[in-house]
Amino acid sequence: MSVIAFAKNWNGKFKNSTFELVSYTRNLASQLNTQLIVVSIGEVKEEELKSLGKYGAERIISVNDPQMNTLTSRVYAQVISKLAEIEGADTIVMSDNESGKAIAPRISVKMKAGMASAVLELPVSMNPFVVKKGVFSGKAFEHVQIDSPVKVITIAKNCFGFIENQVDVSIEEFSPNLDAALFKIQVLEEEKQTNKVNLADADIVVSAGRGMRSPDNWGVVEELADALGAATACSRPVSDEGWRGHEEHVGQTGKVIAPNLYFAAGISGAIQHVAGISRSKCIVAINTDPEAPIFGVADYGIVGDVMEVLPKLTEAVRNS
Ligand code: FAD
Repeated sequence: MSVIAFAKNWNGKFKNSTFELVSYTRNLASQLNTQLIVVSIGEVKEEELKSLGKYGAERIISVNDPQMNTLTSRVYAQVISKLAEIEGADTIVMSDNESGKAIAPRISVKMKAGMASAVLELPVSMNPFVVKKGVFSGKAFEHVQIDSPVKVITIAKNCFGFIENQVDVSIEEFSPNLDAALFKIQVLEEEKQTNKVNLADADIVVSAGRGMRSPDNWGVVEELADALGAATACSRPVSDEGWRGHEEHVGQTGKVIAPNLYFAAGISGAIQHVAGISRSKCIVAINTDPEAPIFGVADYGIVGDVMEVLPKLTEAVRNS
């Protein structure tokens, strides 16, 4: 028996979400008293693979195949299921990001495995296997029991953090020998439409609401985001008004995000908005109204006008 963690890379590099996944699965494997196997797919340099040893990845199986550099969920699901069978893995874990969301259900069907997505912490109980996840946009929790011999879970961003636990790493190469038909559909080229930081993966998000008063004022939001290397986001009325695109709208009916740092500028903090950002590690609110509900969920609050405060923050970041 063993635990498999799928370590997604981005152009050969791992991100914090991968380190969190390795930390989580290291702890899960210890609690299950079993081995952790970290699986990497696509070309990743040895040095980068070894960086996972800092978070407890003792054994890494690398499918170092350039054909698999682009994530194709059918192919990745096939590779991970094959490895799970060979290694006798009974628990398969991945991050609840776009790749995890695409691959995990395919593995679940392939292996007739029960699945739970966006799990919030280590299992509540190992036998029976019970995990906790958020429902109704994080307003409630549910405990999900998985009874199948093989279990698939995805873990929510920032549910665990990454804990250093340096170990010696052994790296094995694996060639899955897949049916050529699986590669008949190939992504030939990915064209970047923007150089902006992707909201779903961003560690820092600068978000603004109706308190900005006009789309013409968004320059101060973008400048702070640029200075911090952050993604931009907005409240729903802002995207409904067409001030910003709907892909930036966060909340109950928009994206649910969990960055390390979230700025809410001119956002009142309605429950539907907070539903999408409440798992942020640190929330900084800027609002002229000291009674605004956003201050109830914020870690730091600045009572002031966004048009004055945001440029000052940008200047401070640039000078730091
Ligand atoms: P407002 O509520 O108008 O707040 C503006 C804030 O800016 C105020 O607090 C004000 O004090 C402050 N302000 C004004 N001027 C300044 C200034 N110069 N400097 C600093 N602060 C200033 N909303 C979402 O965001 N996401 C959702 O997913 C979502 N889903 C919804 C689903 C349903 C079914 C419903 C009914 C509503 C939903 N909403 C959602 C809407 C939500 O209820 C709120 O109406 C919305 O979040 C308010 O947006 P806002 O904070 O930008 O605007």
